[in-house]
Amino acid sequence: MNPRTNRSIGVIDRYRSLLPVDESTPVITLGEGSTPLIESRKLSALLGNRCRVFLKFEGANPTGSFKDRGMTVAVSLAAQRGATTLICASTGNTSAAAAAYAARSGMRCAVLLPAGKIALGKIAQAFVYGAKVIAIDDNFDACLNVVRELQKEPTVAVVNSINPDRLEGQKTAAFEVVDELGDAPALHLLPVGNAGNITAYWKGYQEYRQLNRASRTPRMVGFQAAGAAPIFLDRVIPAPETAASAIRIGNPASWGPAKTALQESGGAIDIVSDDEIFAAQRWVAANEGVFAEPASAASVAGFMKCADPSRRCSSCPMAQLPDESSIVLTLTGHGLKDVASVLDQCPAPLKAEANKESVLSLLS
Ligand SMILES: *Cc1c(COP(=O)(O)O)cnc(C)c1O
Repeated sequence: MNPRTNRSIGVIDRYRSLLPVDESTPVITLGEGSTPLIESRKLSALLGNRCRVFLKFEGANPTGSFKDRGMTVAVSLAAQRGATTLICASTGNTSAAAAAYAARSGMRCAVLLPAGKIALGKIAQAFVYGAKVIAIDDNFDACLNVVRELQKEPTVAVVNSINPDRLEGQKTAAFEVVDELGDAPALHLLPVGNAGNITAYWKGYQEYRQLNRASRTPRMVGFQAAGAAPIFLDRVIPAPETAASAIRIGNPASWGPAKTALQESGGAIDIVSDDEIFAAQRWVAANEGVFAEPASAASVAGFMKCADPSRRCSSCPMAQLPDESSIVLTLTGHGLKDVASVLDQCPAPLKAEANKESVLSLLS
């Protein structure tokens, strides 16, 4: 199937029979999904060209992150159930997606954000899409606790990933990978924050395996930021710290299901430092032309760590891969959402006079 021909239909119409919708569900879509799967020969080279490495670029979604896949399903079903207000806690991308799909559906939207901790592009999105933006003087985990209390209010729909409809939508990314590669990859690497996405991919891969659309399921490999690594360390982190704000989570909402996904798939969870994350972000932009936000680059940083025999752990799934395996890395969101974190490290632009010689002298 050529995803491009399906670009404008959105994930509900592309995968309707595998989603919890029916004929009377109002489909609220922005044409999300069908994102590019980009082969990276330069990452393959890091493994001696034994494997093929692909980047699933979720920054190409309508609001710039994979959150749109879950939001189209959650908002469509909320509308079907008669909700009039959407609410979520967010490190940024959930609020951007909720606000956009609320605008599209005519529902009201309120987003609870940890004060001072959100990338500017994401705040701008929530405002322009018309959401009520509420700053809470605490971290994301505290915001989510407030939202949990609001869950029982009539006509309010919570669209965090504690809403199972979100994960149903997000599993479609795994379907797309299999549809494009012709089978499931051997490994799937992705960043882990609330751990909803790794849970959703695992669900999608299992469903495709059961339907015989794939002959196997991949090992799921998650990467947390070293300062926000509750699953890796197996304990709640009360004050998580990382510049990758989308994975600054100390008590993941989908902790249990994610552990199941890691175990059942024969996968692993590891950590990467902020320095490794920013180096990977720059590397994949400069080498492959793909600009992903810092949290997304955790999967690239993780790949680089696992590709290096001196840095990977003894049980690393990448050490035992058969030749010609496929490896997919999800790049969860677009780099333009958080330009401040990149501009921090940018040197000043070179200066030239307005003539050919002056510019050429800088190119040598
Ligand atoms: C939400 C998000 C994550 C983390 O996904 P979880 O499902 O919370 O694990 C990672 N990267 C980006 C860009 C995100 O928006």
